[in-house]
Amino acid sequence: MKMNDTQFTLIKEQLRRLTSQDGFYARKLAGIDVESIQSQEDFEKLPFTWKGDLREAYPLGLQAVPDEEVVRIHSSSGTTGTPVIIPYTRQDVADWAEMFERCYRMAGLTPLDRVHITPGYGLWTAGIGFQAGAERLGAMVIPMGPGNTDKQLQMMQDLYSTVLCATSSYALLLAEEIAKRGIGDKISLKKGIIGSERWGAKMRQRIADELGVELYDIYGLTEVYGPGIGMSCSHACGMHLWDDFIYFEIIDPKTGEPVPDGEMGELVITTLRKQGAPLIRYRTHDLTRIIPGECPCGDPHPRIDTILGRTDDMVKVKGVNIFPSQIDELLSTLPGASSEYQFMIDHLMGKDICTLFVEVDPGANKHAMEAVIGERFKAKIGIQAVIKPVNIGDLPRSEKKSTRVFDNRY
Ligand code: ZN
Repeated sequence: MKMNDTQFTLIKEQLRRLTSQDGFYARKLAGIDVESIQSQEDFEKLPFTWKGDLREAYPLGLQAVPDEEVVRIHSSSGTTGTPVIIPYTRQDVADWAEMFERCYRMAGLTPLDRVHITPGYGLWTAGIGFQAGAERLGAMVIPMGPGNTDKQLQMMQDLYSTVLCATSSYALLLAEEIAKRGIGDKISLKKGIIGSERWGAKMRQRIADELGVELYDIYGLTEVYGPGIGMSCSHACGMHLWDDFIYFEIIDPKTGEPVPDGEMGELVITTLRKQGAPLIRYRTHDLTRIIPGECPCGDPHPRIDTILGRTDDMVKVKGVNIFPSQIDELLSTLPGASSEYQFMIDHLMGKDICTLFVEVDPGANKHAMEAVIGERFKAKIGIQAVIKPVNIGDLPRSEKKSTRVFDNRY
């Protein structure tokens, strides 16, 4: 995707500012002459910023403005290792709310809506972001936060919530509770705004059907404001990203080179206006692709696909990147195949060999399944795999996130 002139100017100004003062980027970009960056190609030679760099800057090493300009911090959950702390200026907080309001408008919300917010409040960016955007729009906020399903459903009925903001798993839980209690006719929800975790088409359909709502995907990450930097529209064909606030690239996660529009890769973000903690070429580890062309909704902001997974889950075989989500998708539309599979890559006699073990329904013709899955795999992924249909329950189960891809080459 082509960087536009405004983006280039903003990036250059930002680089000048960051390298002319002591701090995170002055050290990271030491030895790079900002004035020699004359084009998008020059910019693409700058080093990436990694989550690990941000962790090392704990607690406030990312801060790029004087103390008196910082009005708030947020932090990414430190489930693994040191958390990342992101300082915000008053302008950052305002910009984030502006983007978030845009998201709500894209979903058709008006000041008459009642926005039921279930994501958490606190160090995490979610709840407060949903709230600030809704208030800026003029809608009524119901700041529930997570948990306490009884109370959620009571408030939802008594206050006639029209919009549910939630993670996909919590939305599904609420949808199932509503069905179980038979209170569907007392619920006024029209729309669901769902945080951008990876979720399958089957889950999406269930939530939409059970709640009787239109669903929208919202995208974001704590390191770059929080949720609200991108949003799906009523055409549900990917998410529009607010490219006047962020510049984004899709790169091959293995080589770091940009991939052509439409091809899958890792989303890399550069902030254009952020003051408290600007980021240059930040590796999000989210896998997606640019959706080329104009959206039927007419909104000019460029689109990325729904997040297809994390780069940590990706493997490269014979020059082709393979993502578990592609295999999920392939199997989800195939009668007779269950959702459980294991994908193995071995290196034998100088060649990479892929084997896909798939659990198939009892009574399914394994021989026929082998042929069908083999054909579909080749068509979808682009390389050949040995297909081994097995019985339901044959593959190991795990209580934690199950490992489905085994790369035995190294
Ligand atoms: Zn659109």
